[in-house]
Amino acid sequence: MKPDDDTCWAAVRDRDRAFDGRFFYGVLSTGVYCRPSCASRTPLRRNLRFYAVAADAERDGLRPCKRCKPLARTADEATIRTVRELCRYIQQHSDQNPGLEQLSRRAHLSPSHLQRRFKAVLGVSPKDFVESCRLDALKRKLRDGRSVAAATYDAGFGSSSRVYERAAHRLGMTPRQYRAGGRGVDISWALSETPLGLLMIGASDRGLCFVQFGASESELRGQLQAEFPQAAITPMPANARDQFAQWMQALSRHLSGRQVALDLPLDLRGTAFQMKVWNYLLKIPYGALRSYSEVAQAIGAPRAVRAVASACAANRVGLVVPCHRVIRGDGGLGGYRWGLERKRSLIDLERSVRTAGA
Ligand SMILES: [Zn+2]
Repeated sequence: MKPDDDTCWAAVRDRDRAFDGRFFYGVLSTGVYCRPSCASRTPLRRNLRFYAVAADAERDGLRPCKRCKPLARTADEATIRTVRELCRYIQQHSDQNPGLEQLSRRAHLSPSHLQRRFKAVLGVSPKDFVESCRLDALKRKLRDGRSVAAATYDAGFGSSSRVYERAAHRLGMTPRQYRAGGRGVDISWALSETPLGLLMIGASDRGLCFVQFGASESELRGQLQAEFPQAAITPMPANARDQFAQWMQALSRHLSGRQVALDLPLDLRGTAFQMKVWNYLLKIPYGALRSYSEVAQAIGAPRAVRAVASACAANRVGLVVPCHRVIRGDGGLGGYRWGLERKRSLIDLERSVRTAGA
């Protein structure tokens, strides 16, 4: 059993060898996964995910760290490579539900060898891995707004009743609940008038998950609800007033050019790719600009320019995650979720503050 997240986090900070083999941690900003004792610099907690088995990290698209080699004790390098290639293949063909025979032909191994080695390297059987990939595909389709019936069909499941059984068991909820925004999170919100219009901030107990402009309170509340349909959303409670006031103050100082750095706690929720993009945006200095393709290059996905633009557009935490610092390669502004006029104002403001300070 994987220890709980706080225990895992403590083990990572201490590089505690006693936890090697009990879990792996993935670093979403770099795309690698490690053993707890890895000697690399300790990542920020918000970029970490903890995995019971290597298979889960592989399914999230992460690769084994070259420094701590988390799979090295499980098999020789050639076997690890074969197994990982098979993972990619399964992920791309999970809708066809590939069986052990087919996979072993691909890997040039006998079925029993494949079975044993796959499990030794990744901690789960090939069949379990295929099953998890099919559930991942189903989840993705549900999140993208496909109906339960269509998503079930696309993901290669025969009848939807079986999906319900399995998905409810594995996801801890039914596909319909998942589509409805996942398990409940408590989110509080507050509003403030700023030089760029009405601003709403929303926060969970982990940090800011929503910073957006809008025309009215009701519009903004609607947006917040749409982002987190399943969350319990309430106005800021009295005991959080000081905290919210501090955040708002920082944002309004930022918007008037009096505070350059915005180091606020964040609760970012997204796919591994979105997290990579958003984490990169956090590193673009105040007053600097990048093109969508520069961002794609920088995160190691040079051809994913469109996906980068979509991840910027899906940013829920404006200003703090500065998607306004990304523009088109030809100098055009590109898009901005809260209007191009606001994007232009932010870019101009940052440029003038930087020039004045230089
Ligand atoms: Zn490592």
